[in-house]
Amino acid sequence: MHIAGNPSHLTVQQRELIDLAAALGRQRFAPRAAAHDRDASFPFENYQDLRAAGLLAICVPREHGGLGADFATYVMVAAEIGRHCGATALSYNMHVSSTMWAGFVADALDMTREQRADHEHLRAIHFERIVHHGKVYSQPFSEGGAAAAGKAPWGTLARPVDGGYVVSGKKIFASLAGAADYYGVLCTLDKPGATQRDTLYLAVPADAPGVSVVGEWDPLGMRGTVSRTLMLDEVLVPPTARLMPEGLYWQAAARYPHMFATLSPTYMGIAQAAYDFTVAYLRSEVPGMPPVKRRMYPTKQAAVAEMRIKLEQTRALFLHNARDARIDPDQDTRMRLYAAHYTIMENANDIARLAIRTCGGQGMLKSLPLERLYRDSRCGSLMLPWTAELCVDHLGRESLYEAGERDEAIE
Ligand SMILES: Cc1cc2nc3c(=O)[nH]c(=O)nc-3n(C[C@H](O)[C@H](O)[C@H](O)COP(=O)(O)OP(=O)(O)OC[C@H]3O[C@@H](n4cnc5c(N)ncnc54)[C@H](O)[C@@H]3O)c2cc1C
Repeated sequence: MHIAGNPSHLTVQQRELIDLAAALGRQRFAPRAAAHDRDASFPFENYQDLRAAGLLAICVPREHGGLGADFATYVMVAAEIGRHCGATALSYNMHVSSTMWAGFVADALDMTREQRADHEHLRAIHFERIVHHGKVYSQPFSEGGAAAAGKAPWGTLARPVDGGYVVSGKKIFASLAGAADYYGVLCTLDKPGATQRDTLYLAVPADAPGVSVVGEWDPLGMRGTVSRTLMLDEVLVPPTARLMPEGLYWQAAARYPHMFATLSPTYMGIAQAAYDFTVAYLRSEVPGMPPVKRRMYPTKQAAVAEMRIKLEQTRALFLHNARDARIDPDQDTRMRLYAAHYTIMENANDIARLAIRTCGGQGMLKSLPLERLYRDSRCGSLMLPWTAELCVDHLGRESLYEAGERDEAIE
């Protein structure tokens, strides 16, 4: 089954890149996934494969030597990777997002002529590192306070000094901690009265003095992301560390909300994998399992039907959302985006739950991938800024209130 449903609707580039991701996923990532999950270790070999295949530069614009993939192409490729290794797809998203923010998102923003020239100069440096030197970027934004939900300025501060910025702060759940070459952190420009509009997006070199990775990483799922805590202690970075001109991230986040939905393709892939496994299991096609078919029982058939219905509902919203991505989506598109993101995250876990119930006791043994899919699928709807709860908050409020509308005070 194709991750994008009917592949005849795809462009040539989309088909080729998804096929490439499928080959890497099946032959390389899936066989390594259990060990990285067991050890909570980072899949460096998978990144070597992504690098060799040119996929680290998937969204780097063509004029900078990348593959120039658009949003829709990227999310389908990411979902195919997630089908074979969820943790790799999730951390890959952190890397690729860095190139999307600096790439086609930045292209769509309003900038002065000076800002545009500055950005062109700086992003050429970042893209060159990725395209020619295979460098990996991550995006540790979360801090454990209200900033990741978009409710407060970032606690990590960047103090302008001669020669750049001095950055201090703490980032939690920093996927690729210890594995990325550059940490793309969001910080607040250190000045009196700074607000969220003063957010600065800086690529901090992993080997800069003052950068350290601390704490344990022993979570329920997505163990191969190695999302440990990143400490930044008076780290001096040059002005060229900027991934966007000062103040531009705020505009990007407000005007390009689809970027926050780039977390969900991973979970589309996990949902597909749970379905794939269940069909193979009931048909007795899982390698290493005794040749016992279970497909003839009507209850199994009904369960698979229920899973397929949920999977197709999820895919339909996923694809719709992929096509809708643009600057300044209208209110209706934004609402569908929340609904799509919520549905993918929640359905992935529900489909994995149904898979375990349907395949039964042997199906959830650690020797098989299903229990990992189940644990990984649980992590999606916890991710800020659009947790399942916050999607519901947005949908409810924005369905009932137009922008700026308020109620009269009730006596
Ligand atoms: C496997 C994994 C990898 C991750 N990788 C990264 C990464 O690379 N980069 C990164 O930046 N982050 C990453 N995260 C972090 C993630 O995006 C969240 O920031 C993190 O899970 C939040 O955890 P918390 O307990 O601090 O949430 P809290 O802020 O304590 O929130 C707990 C819950 O309360 C609700 N809530 C929070 N704020 C509000 C509000 N203002 N209004 C209403 N409800 C609210 C939300 O539903 C949320 O789930 C990762 C998380 C996981 C699980």
